[in-house]
Amino acid sequence: MVSGADFPARRPGFARWLSASNDITQQFLAIGGRPDFISMAGGLPAAELYPAAAIAEAAQKALARWGATALEYGPVEGFPALRQFIAERVGRQAGRSIGPENVLLTVGAMQALDLIGKVLIDPGDPIVVQFPTYVGALDAWRMRAPSYRLLDWSPDADSQALRGAQFVYTVPNYSNPTGVLVPTAARQALLERVLAAGTWLIEDDPYLPLQYSGAAGPSILELHGRMAPEGPYDGPVIYLGTLSKSIVPGLRVGWVIAPSAMIQALAIAKQSSDLSSSMLTQAIALELLESGHEEQHVPTIIRHYTERRDALCAAARSELAEWFDWEIPPGGMFVWMRRRDPAIDTDALYQYALREKVAFVPGSVFDPAGKLTSAMRVNFSRNAPSVLQEGVARLAAATRHYLRK
Ligand code: PMP
Repeated sequence: MVSGADFPARRPGFARWLSASNDITQQFLAIGGRPDFISMAGGLPAAELYPAAAIAEAAQKALARWGATALEYGPVEGFPALRQFIAERVGRQAGRSIGPENVLLTVGAMQALDLIGKVLIDPGDPIVVQFPTYVGALDAWRMRAPSYRLLDWSPDADSQALRGAQFVYTVPNYSNPTGVLVPTAARQALLERVLAAGTWLIEDDPYLPLQYSGAAGPSILELHGRMAPEGPYDGPVIYLGTLSKSIVPGLRVGWVIAPSAMIQALAIAKQSSDLSSSMLTQAIALELLESGHEEQHVPTIIRHYTERRDALCAAARSELAEWFDWEIPPGGMFVWMRRRDPAIDTDALYQYALREKVAFVPGSVFDPAGKLTSAMRVNFSRNAPSVLQEGVARLAAATRHYLRK
């Protein structure tokens, strides 16, 4: 008889993946589906703003235009017309020449992070990450077992710290989890250190469209363009973009901009994982972009998210200010709340929050060492203002119970 219980033991080799699972991410997904919970944990857009009708129309147009081509396997580098479109758009945004050979279309920016891990990280390799760090990147790289160094943004940062690193990872616009907008001077200084160290710089920019009260800075890709002579792109920046925040995450369309040799390496890694992205969703994405739908839709998202951000921060001012400090984020989806009271451990508080049927993401998830328990990430994009107010009231109740324990 084969029993389920001894299955992993008899067939070793995959159990390490089970132990590498980040249970908290699974918990968030489960909580997100429970109507009695208010989840301010996920990094999800507002589902009621998803433009379903426009996507249906784009799908019809895409099939009429491309026929079987939209239903086949495609080139691993991506749907050629969309590659061209993204090359031109990013080139325009960054004020430099970017060709289709500098573009790899991916299954969201998440796949780009995974491919970068495959191509650039061998076990033990040092990488330098903005801290706290997007949990999806830590997840993507966990099984590659890098050794982490934390990025120091200070002007007198030790320039040796980047030496020998495989890459530096940063989310300079409205970072996940902190919502922080990195100032232009700090971006420039980092670029110079990266050039001096001869390493790569991963600039992950999913929140670029979500600007409320502080304009996004020039991308580091653009800053490099200002220093470099014209010609084929051969800089150190590997820039990541996505349609997840400006249209819908379900399209799973993202892109990497990099020197063509790096694009080829990433494409080889991609081929061994999925042969090609869905041609159908790429063709739909192209229709949505070419028709100007994204540009029309983003202001609606911005209006709602600004209102939600303000509702969350106002509720927090009246209910949480005794225990937490935060800055109003100029863009993105998150408020980063830092404890004022050193008695608060956000991992422990999380358990009390679950009892009150509310969830946030404890800071430890964004720490390669899992030790950051002085802060938490609170999402405002997913829920309506009245739900956020109730969520904050529950969080305040959870904090009171926790501190009285
Ligand atoms: N990078 C960051 C910083 C993110 O916050 C996210 C999404 N939450 C991603 C990458 C992945 O986005 P995508 O949906 O394009 O895979």
